[in-house]
Amino acid sequence: MPLEHEKELYGAVEAGGTKFNCAVITAARDIIGTKRVATTTPAETLQEVIEFFAPHRDSLLAVGVASFGPIDLDTESSTYGYITTTPKPGWHNADVVGTLNRALGVPIGWDTDVNGAALAEFRWGAAIDCDPTVYITVGTGIGGGAIVNGKAVHGLMHPEMGHLVVKRLPGDEFPGICPYHGDCLEGMICGPALERRNNKPGEEVAADDPIWDLVAQYLAGALYPITLLLSPKRIVIGGGVGSRPELLAKVMARLLVLNNHYVQPLDKAAGLIVAPGLGSQSGVMGAFELARQAAVARQKA
Ligand code: ZN
Repeated sequence: MPLEHEKELYGAVEAGGTKFNCAVITAARDIIGTKRVATTTPAETLQEVIEFFAPHRDSLLAVGVASFGPIDLDTESSTYGYITTTPKPGWHNADVVGTLNRALGVPIGWDTDVNGAALAEFRWGAAIDCDPTVYITVGTGIGGGAIVNGKAVHGLMHPEMGHLVVKRLPGDEFPGICPYHGDCLEGMICGPALERRNNKPGEEVAADDPIWDLVAQYLAGALYPITLLLSPKRIVIGGGVGSRPELLAKVMARLLVLNNHYVQPLDKAAGLIVAPGLGSQSGVMGAFELARQAAVARQKA
């Protein structure tokens, strides 16, 4: 017999380009099982995800997937639930939601990893009661999600903040590495771009290396238009950069320089830019919230 609190379970999948972090979570947000699945081919990876959840099938109310992208979020589209134009080999047009739904027979919540993380930080993390909230991650890639009026932003597509055009810094000759745009934000300062600039991985670069000033300047160069557009009350920065507090302070300082006292509340918003309150759990808790929302939607239908 399952324990009382184990009768209603949710599946959470943080689907990343190198690994899928899976968890079985109770309604009280207790994690009762986890599995890390390597991102190989869609068939192989999704089969392992299904096998992890299968023993809990009778208790699962829904599964939420917070995925790398771009993904199709349009419920009217024939490719809803697919990962679409990713350059990741084998994952172009991979049907994630359909595959999991057919195998597990439960509703599947579906959104980008960054919209999921934004939801989790907004509900339980560093951005409680901060509406709008922006979550941006700077790592292997750069992505951003946003909560406006309590909901993750969707529309024609989903936000793609990592590909914002940024003003090139004087003297910076780096061509950028984005296969679509060259010198967009991601092309200029994502992990692999820093590795190309420095000939070594970002985690091996000293905290006082001038490259971090450059990272802060480009990041602020993207966060300023995001701030002007969405008026966020909080910006949560995850990924490798979010774990460097000195860098968050540099980004805020640069943001104020770019603002030049124009938007006055920004001058007083000392706690605007923060690290994730849920630490490395933002992603999986975001997927849990997507599962919870999918279960609620099923009950209403
Ligand atoms: Zn780009």
